[in-house]
Amino acid sequence: MRDTLVINCGSSSIKFALIHPQSQTTVVSGLAEKLNETGPLLTVKTARGKETLPLAEQGHAEAMHGILHALESLNLLQDVAAVGHRIVHGGEYFHSATRVNDEVLKAIEACIPLAPLHNPVNLLGLQAALEAFPDLPHVVVFDTAFHQTMPEHAYRYAVPAELYRDHGVRRYGFHGTSHQYVTMKAAEMLGKPLEETCFVSAHLGNGCSITAVKGGQSTDTSMGLTPLEGLVMGTRSGDVDPNLHLFLHQTLGLSIEQITDLLNKKSGLLGLSELSNDCRELEQARLAGHTGASLALEVFCYRLAKYVAAMAVPLGRLDALIFTGGIGENSRFVREKTLSHLGILGLRLDPERNAGLVGGQSGPITLEGGTPALVVGTNEELMIALQTEKVLT
Ligand code: AMP
Repeated sequence: MRDTLVINCGSSSIKFALIHPQSQTTVVSGLAEKLNETGPLLTVKTARGKETLPLAEQGHAEAMHGILHALESLNLLQDVAAVGHRIVHGGEYFHSATRVNDEVLKAIEACIPLAPLHNPVNLLGLQAALEAFPDLPHVVVFDTAFHQTMPEHAYRYAVPAELYRDHGVRRYGFHGTSHQYVTMKAAEMLGKPLEETCFVSAHLGNGCSITAVKGGQSTDTSMGLTPLEGLVMGTRSGDVDPNLHLFLHQTLGLSIEQITDLLNKKSGLLGLSELSNDCRELEQARLAGHTGASLALEVFCYRLAKYVAAMAVPLGRLDALIFTGGIGENSRFVREKTLSHLGILGLRLDPERNAGLVGGQSGPITLEGGTPALVVGTNEELMIALQTEKVLT
């Protein structure tokens, strides 16, 4: 197969990458941004460097045509054999990547109530790409699909059953593409067939989630109906007492919308530190004696460690803990602090190995003889390209 164009569409931006699935290399990548403002921009990155150009008009359709023209002027358009799209929520409709047709578009639309911020913009990008590349096959890859293998006792909430039956209230999980990719890579690193592995995978970026993966299949995960549940994140609280809503409403008079905004955008590392949602900045502030930054990192690592232990339950055995995402791949401090809580699982840090792994490098960070913790660089775009290829061959 020739190259796959991978599209990741947000509300004001479109990320793209042209990937050669056989060699697993990125030929060109880029970002169309500020799509709803005056002066939208398109940045294109090749092996020769990076160039930013203005887009003629606002909107996703214009940006998609800008991407098409950029590929044309690089003489790459004829190499594009398929388009792979990242879609956030596939509900219970999608268990794997799927080729786009009218029925698929309707099902993605039907999932909008479950992801009102993400699915409409994902669809907008998909429509724009269908129009810009009408003769190519399009494949959708869902953040939720990997978690559709979770057993019912892991995905149901203890709320009235009719909420699940009538409104789909259950845990779905997210970051599936990343968890699937890093567990495949970890199996390769350990030299074991994927079917025989038991991993806990921690994706720690601005959003954070942790998944128990047994034999290559998700058996439990920390995110739920929405990406708010679970770990402490950059600006998201993760788990709180569900009665917090009532408390904040009664004591501060906050509305449901204000509380939702507070928990999603003003909490997490940012809320605790009163400084920043950025882990790197917090680490520097901690070293300079900022108590809020210290506390935020402590809570982040302790919650993470508790979840690692919880995710070992469905596995029965732990072959490795995987760290990935911007924080997982780079923060020596977070990895060290988290492992300091996890002696109970046989995870013992090797400080030298830990210090040596940053910037997307992969490898073990634990002492020989115990349970390994591995740093594995994630690559969601490559995983989308590989899945697109698999659907079409
Ligand atoms: P992502 O969403 O995967 O791009 O990850 C973003 C997070 O990774 C931010 O909190 C960054 O501060 C964090 N990060 C990136 N590089 C480093 C680093 N060298 N040390 C600590 N955190 C980092």
